This record gives sequence, C-alpha cells and structure tokens, in this order.
Amino acid sequence: MATILLFNPPAPGSRGFTREGRCTQESGIWGTQWPPVSLSTTAAFLKRDGHLVRIIDFPAVGKGTDSLAVIVRTETPDFAFWNTGTPTIANDLHIALLIRHNCPKTVTGVIGTHVSVLPEEALREPALDIVIRHEPERILLNVCRADERAWTEIKGISYRDGKRGTIVHNPDETLIAPEDILAPNWETLDISAYRLPLKGRRFLIVAPVRGCPYRCNFCTAPIYYGGRLRKRPVSHVIAEMEDNLIRFGIKDIFMWADTFTADRAYLREFCLALIDSGLPISWTCNSRVDTIDIESLRMMKEAGLWMISFGLESGNDEILRNSGKHISVDQSKEAVRMAQKTGLKVAGHFMFGLPGETMETMEQTLKFALFLPLDIAQFYAATPFPGTDLYELAKNNGWLQRRNGTSFSQSTAVMDLPGLPAWKVDHFRKKAYRAFYGRPSAILRLAAMVEPSVARNVFRLMKR
Ligand code: SF4
Repeated sequence: MATILLFNPPAPGSRGFTREGRCTQESGIWGTQWPPVSLSTTAAFLKRDGHLVRIIDFPAVGKGTDSLAVIVRTETPDFAFWNTGTPTIANDLHIALLIRHNCPKTVTGVIGTHVSVLPEEALREPALDIVIRHEPERILLNVCRADERAWTEIKGISYRDGKRGTIVHNPDETLIAPEDILAPNWETLDISAYRLPLKGRRFLIVAPVRGCPYRCNFCTAPIYYGGRLRKRPVSHVIAEMEDNLIRFGIKDIFMWADTFTADRAYLREFCLALIDSGLPISWTCNSRVDTIDIESLRMMKEAGLWMISFGLESGNDEILRNSGKHISVDQSKEAVRMAQKTGLKVAGHFMFGLPGETMETMEQTLKFALFLPLDIAQFYAATPFPGTDLYELAKNNGWLQRRNGTSFSQSTAVMDLPGLPAWKVDHFRKKAYRAFYGRPSAILRLAAMVEPSVARNVFRLMKR
C-alpha cells in the first residue's frame, strides 16, 4: 500500500485555476473553479487498489505553495501527482523542485495535455520523475503498483533513465473501456468550494462519455481522451448522480463531456433513464450545433437540462472551415434558435484570431453574436495549444510570438496572423465583451439568471 498525494497546484498570483484535460482556465465570472474530476476518478482507482489517497485542490481552497510544502514535509507521501496546464506550465513543472526539497523520497509525476505532447520539455525539470501521457487513471495506478525497476514495463509514461541519464518514452497505454471507468471519489475533497457561476449553488462534474471523434484544429480534447466516443453505461452514470445526491446533497451537475450530444441514441437513453429515475437533478452541458435537434432538446430539458453551451467559434463560414470545426453559420443560427425555443438558457463561445481572420471577419463574428438570442457569450483568443494542428500551422508559418515559449492561454492572443497582429485580437476581444454585455437586453437576460445571493459578486466581477 502506498500513500499518494493528488493535487491541483497553486497557480501564480494565488488565482483560481482549473486544469482539466482540454480545459485550462482561470477562475472568473464564467470560468468557475471546477472540481478536479481526473484526480478524483484516479483516486477511485487507487483506493480500490488499497492505497491511501489524499486530493487537494489548492486554488479552490485558496492555499499556496507554503501550504503544499508543509503537507509534503509532514505527510511524506510515496507519490505526488498533479495536474498541469499550458497557461501555467512553467509554474506547474517547478512544483517538482518544491516537493523534492521537502520530501526527497517522494516520486513526482504530472498529468495533462501539454506534458502528454511535450514530455521531453517537462522532464527538463530534474526534480520531475515521470510524465503520465494522455488519459491518466490506469497508467497512474500501474506506476503506484510497481517498483521503480519495473518502469520499463509501464505503458504511457515518459521518465528519466537513472543510469544512462536519457529520457525514455514507453509506448502509449490503451484507453479504458467505458464500462470500466469508475465514478470519481469526491470524499477526500472539500467540495463546498465549488459553486455554479451566476447561481452560487454547489455542483459536481459528471462525465458520461469520453473522447471526441471531431478534429477541430485548435482543440486538445483528442490528446487526453482519444478520438473515439466512449459511452459509459447509462446505469453507471445515473447511479453516480444518485450517489452525489444521497451522499453530498448535490443536485446541480455539469455534464463534462467533449461531445455529450454526438450520439443521439445514447443521449435519448440517458435522458429517458434520468426522467425515469425521478432524481431532482439540474444540469448543464456542452454541445455541437450539428448534433442536436428539437426532439433531443425537449427531452434534455425534461430530464433537467437548464442551459446548453455551443462552441460557435465564428460568424464567418470560411473561418469555420479553416478551423476544421465543420459547422456552418446557418447551423449555429438554427441550433441557438431551437434551444431558445425549447426554453433553455443558451451560451455561445466564440474565438477570434483563427487562421484567415481579419478585422472584417471579427466584426462579422461580433455582429453574429449580437444577433443571436444568447444569454451568455464568451470570447476567446484562438490559442495554438501544443499537440493541435493549429500549433503546427502557427509554428510553420512563423505566427508565434517567441516571448511566450509554449505558455499560452485563451485570454491573451499569441499569434501574429498575416495582417492581424495579436494585440488587435486582444483589443477586439475586449470590444466584443463591452458590445455584448453593454446592451440593456443582455443585462436583463443575465440578471434573470443570477441568484440574488451572488448578484453583487457577479456584477463586481463584470466591471473588471
Ligand atoms: S467538437 Fe471540436 S472543439 Fe469540441 S471537443 Fe471535439 S475537437 Fe474539441
């Protein structure tokens, strides 16, 4: 039996920060701190194996590196594994040194999309022992079961060969069969820290499916969970939600899935089972505009869905084509209209600075966002995350600003496109937020969603 510390590391400047597969975001008005679902699912696998596991989400509980140092020094875990993200990568890798200083015997390892595609870069940090590549649970379990001499046999890891000093990349591990994916173990986590944006109610994440069969050129989803949709048995997912309700009193769920609505038969089975169960669950999810229809939306609403988020990306068909998203402006229009007609709240996510973007196409996107009956809009900078086709495109075309290394975030543009420098994209993003939320209609829509108990906080954050 090993003692294992799993954690989401403190972020620079004591910010709230979520690092979860393809999602790496700073906490703010929309980007709430998510419960660390990968760590919690990993904990479930490890606990079943008899290990002693503790999970700490440092940004969620407002604790910093001092606190991490004390915990490592006093608890002296056999293993410490933590989440990493592209925007905070230098900080995240540096954590290894802190652990080495405070407990030299602890084996250190990292998970995340960035380190999965750039393990050599990660292992330049001499205090880091292992990189867990791609879907983490099974690989991490195998590491904790084995002794160091057996690392040669463990698929899915990169590590430093102590004798030769070279970096070794073992072959990839296979993905976990959907029926073998365990529900997250939330027990060792302080879940009171996680609150729905605008609502302030406690929530948890449920991940009914993993993997995405699409290849949008800016997205890291397939790196983490693969390119095939793996659907967990509906009975497992319903049991998980029932357990969350009984054990923690959690009724609000964010269905975290790369494309939950991609398989309509599964979606229907899920909704019918949830309706049948009578569980008073209220949920939100992400979707693609080309995967839903009015019948599905009605059933989802009946099953407790109250808000749906679409990645709309652009209001220009050519830009959409360039992004590999394979949706059209008309499809976006129709999906938002249907969702609104069904009585759902609708969020739209847009991106500025995709290949081919110009001032004119950004204006078109903004005009489109203002035209749609959206309750929420978010505007990101297109970001060439390592491992994506966009990263290769940006590198090969010399669009990347050198000063950033590989530390990118969606809140600051890092690509100078032909005729469109990054600063113009950033400037336009701010303009888009002002234009969208400066309208009385948008304020009224938003106000209708905000719980009175959190209203002051929401509007304070909006003024930033
Ligand atoms: S549909 Fe595209 S953006 Fe959405 S998860 Fe899949 S690859 Fe990513």
